Amino acid sequence: MQRRILAGTVVCGFAATTVFAALPASAAMVPPSLSVVRPVSPLIDMPTSYPVQPELKVFPDLPEDASIARGVRPYDQIAPFLNTLMDTSDRVSAQVVGTSAQGRDIYLVTVTTPETTRQTAQQSDWRDLVKADPTAAAADATLQSEYKVPMWFNGNIHGNEWEGTDATLNYIEDLATSSDPATTEMLDDHRVYFTVTNNPDGRALGQRGTANGYDPNRDFITGATAEASIVRDLASVIQPTYFIDLHGYTDVLQVEPCGPPHGENYEYDLFVPHAYATALEIEDAVTAANIPGNTYYDPATAGVTETNTGFINIPYRDQRSGWDDWPPIFAPQYVAYQGAITNTVELPLGRSGDQPARAKVNIEVAEVVIDTVVDYVDEHSDALLDNQIEIFRRGEAGEPSREIPADVAPEDLAPGVPAEWTDIWDETDIYNADFPRAYVIPVGPGQRSDSDAQTLVQQLLVNGIRVDRLTAPARLDGNDYPEGSFYVDMHQPLRGLANVLLADGSDISDRVPDMYDISAWSLSLLWGAQVTRIGETTDPAPTTAVEPVTEAPLTGFVSTGSGTLSFQPRGVADWQAVNALLAEGVALTQRSNGFIEVSGDAATRVLLEEAAATFGVDFRLSGGSPAEGSIELDSVRIGYVGDAGDRDALTKVGFTGLVPVTAATLATGEVDLSTIDLLYVGTGLSFTPEQQAGVDRVTAFIAAGKPVVGRGAGGAAFVSAYVAPLTAVTGTRGSNGIAIVDTPFESVLQGTQGTAFGYPFAWFPNPAPGVTVEQRYAADHTFVAGHWRSTPGQSIQDAAGQASAVSLTGPSGTRAFVFGTSPTFRAHPVGAFSDIARAVFWAADEPVVVEPTPTPTPTVAPTPEPTPEPTVAPTPEPTAVPTAEPSPEPTDEPTAEPTSAPGPTLAPTASATPVPGTGSGPLAQTGAADVSSLGWLALAAGMVGVGLVVIGRARSKTSTR
Ligand SMILES: [Zn+2]
Repeated sequence: MQRRILAGTVVCGFAATTVFAALPASAAMVPPSLSVVRPVSPLIDMPTSYPVQPELKVFPDLPEDASIARGVRPYDQIAPFLNTLMDTSDRVSAQVVGTSAQGRDIYLVTVTTPETTRQTAQQSDWRDLVKADPTAAAADATLQSEYKVPMWFNGNIHGNEWEGTDATLNYIEDLATSSDPATTEMLDDHRVYFTVTNNPDGRALGQRGTANGYDPNRDFITGATAEASIVRDLASVIQPTYFIDLHGYTDVLQVEPCGPPHGENYEYDLFVPHAYATALEIEDAVTAANIPGNTYYDPATAGVTETNTGFINIPYRDQRSGWDDWPPIFAPQYVAYQGAITNTVELPLGRSGDQPARAKVNIEVAEVVIDTVVDYVDEHSDALLDNQIEIFRRGEAGEPSREIPADVAPEDLAPGVPAEWTDIWDETDIYNADFPRAYVIPVGPGQRSDSDAQTLVQQLLVNGIRVDRLTAPARLDGNDYPEGSFYVDMHQPLRGLANVLLADGSDISDRVPDMYDISAWSLSLLWGAQVTRIGETTDPAPTTAVEPVTEAPLTGFVSTGSGTLSFQPRGVADWQAVNALLAEGVALTQRSNGFIEVSGDAATRVLLEEAAATFGVDFRLSGGSPAEGSIELDSVRIGYVGDAGDRDALTKVGFTGLVPVTAATLATGEVDLSTIDLLYVGTGLSFTPEQQAGVDRVTAFIAAGKPVVGRGAGGAAFVSAYVAPLTAVTGTRGSNGIAIVDTPFESVLQGTQGTAFGYPFAWFPNPAPGVTVEQRYAADHTFVAGHWRSTPGQSIQDAAGQASAVSLTGPSGTRAFVFGTSPTFRAHPVGAFSDIARAVFWAADEPVVVEPTPTPTPTVAPTPEPTPEPTVAPTPEPTAVPTAEPSPEPTDEPTAEPTSAPGPTLAPTASATPVPGTGSGPLAQTGAADVSSLGWLALAAGMVGVGLVVIGRARSKTSTR
């Protein structure tokens, strides 16, 4: 497997953090209001016996709750309903496990027969044994007969797909009040869990997404929403053998399993038999119920009919493309990694016509679904538990992924394994992972960003991945790693989840015509840290001393001694520190090599020590003074046109006081551009003829030389309209994935990660004179993972070698920086957040006026620098019109998702020998000493008459600014 080249080096050692104890009690340095990694919900406090029946807080009546018009239970009626049930039944326990964006409680309801403290503790021990020691669990006869095999129903993750909630509440009531001995027996053998409304804000607002603007059922593995994260957190606590996610509406009941492409990291031979068998049982039950008003699937037309055909829609059987389980961003595709069989259930009747009547049908259908699944789990309890144990066992043993042959037949299966699925399975279903022995996340010189590495480890930990740390330096797979490097052994129960998070992914462009949603997501390639794959899963364990990691706090220090301190911002936390220090009034200057300098008087030093502790920044003595080409950093107040991902990426990197901007608010004057330092254009900004006042205000903003940062076709169109001509071409509609990017040594983006996400990718062919190429798509092996259908002018080969990020300066002095990648997509590509900060500060900040220094003035006449842009072969004009939007969602699951200069030269510069450790090229690695000597090197070079030395980015063009 090809690994990317380490993008530059970083100067960071293991120096102990210093003097935290001496911090003043009033530490003012606060992290951003949004953390990159969403912590595990502190509200999850599982009962130590059952039932636990607290009085749930009742929320005030909300007459405009959208549930009312739908004819279903409004949110405020849920707590009273559950309180009443708990008053009348000892089978029902309800608890608050999380809080929505608007502060509504998210409930977990557990239905089971009462348990003593001892029994509950025993159940917890067995649950843990199943995962931690699956072989022992398989051999434990008492566990096998007495473990209350758990199942879990999630309702209403999409807020305006209401009826899952009502059906689960009705079903809970049935279980609570039933006098049927079979029900008691089932509840003796199982815990049945219900998250009755996973997205209560969306339920009340009548919207699909969360109140903070995300689709929670695209948010697994990212954690931008509390709503998805609560399912993430409960998945390891409940550890279900079966999970159902109740949605709507697809005109006819639709029950997964999915068609291809299938996620490579599942134990699919253990997954698909029960997933498909359950779907068939649901089909039988629902068609037998013959619910008036329900609809059916017609295999002859692949359409929907009111005639009871005996069929529902099962994607694995009926939709062989376009409804896949490839990305782990959906609740069922995520929870499956906990050893669960999972199905997305789409209820039939949508949001038109007589809504209460349609809701009533959906509720009845959903109750049949739930009842059928409960019966299935109860009947196949042993098999499902064995299945879960076997999934964890294979992970712990590090067994290679098992390929199911295209011609698999029922007789190939073990006795008792459901076999109906084998008729359908063919070569298009075969997807398997190539598991490594481990992933190493180095720290120190081999790590692009120690803080991004620590953030990545935190993200792994909140997902339940086992991470170790080297307790001594080790040589692994031919490379040396220092003590403290993180080690993710792929022999672990959740190795499927670990690998789906850390593997590069695959380019499946040629395997399937269309994808349902995203096709690549690798945290290794997108979250800013260098991650290295080690060996093959069948390799023996390396003889390396490790210890378990339970947390990965950011750690930093401030060098002792007086003088100028500097650090090289690489990761998100570094930029958080920059913004926090600026907010405290600390003067920061940035050299053209990217290093940020601060002079350390006593008061400043206290703040730096806080920043080191909070953000993990290493402040080292640099010994230099501000050089030509440096810029003075100032807090930047950003007005943004964008989506939730844009807003949250800017927030997570530490920008505060963000001002949302729209064409409408600009036109009315509601947004005052004079209060904004920089306009960030994410989703594009265009005005109707009636909004001319908005056009005028933007024009005046640009005429005043105010800066712009944009992304994608929308950002490019804005820049082209208001700043200077800029043409963007976008990839095929719906294409998305991860590409390799090359960043020139002198780029604003120097030090960035060498891979980027795009949905779709955009590029800038034939940049006009004056446009600086800051980054390019790699000319070869451009596309690492994802799906990019080939279309004329919009294919991978059209993007290869083209500019993926550009900067320019307009006639008024406005600086503009535009990304062709998608650095904020759903707030996922964390590594790219730093790039936005780099672009913002480049565009917004003023050059430093350098005082004369005692150093002799160079006598050599400055010579213009040759243009830094690599030359490219002329490319034909794009034939395709750039599109700003990504692929259409399938009609039943519409989403709001988007798709998607010369610098000032104070003095023309003499070229400087690149200094190790400052660029993005594959340079020799350097240690700390090199950095602290940078200033000295510059000084020395000046003294020998080379001229002004500017390390790093050198620009030849002049600017009015
Ligand atoms: Zn849905």
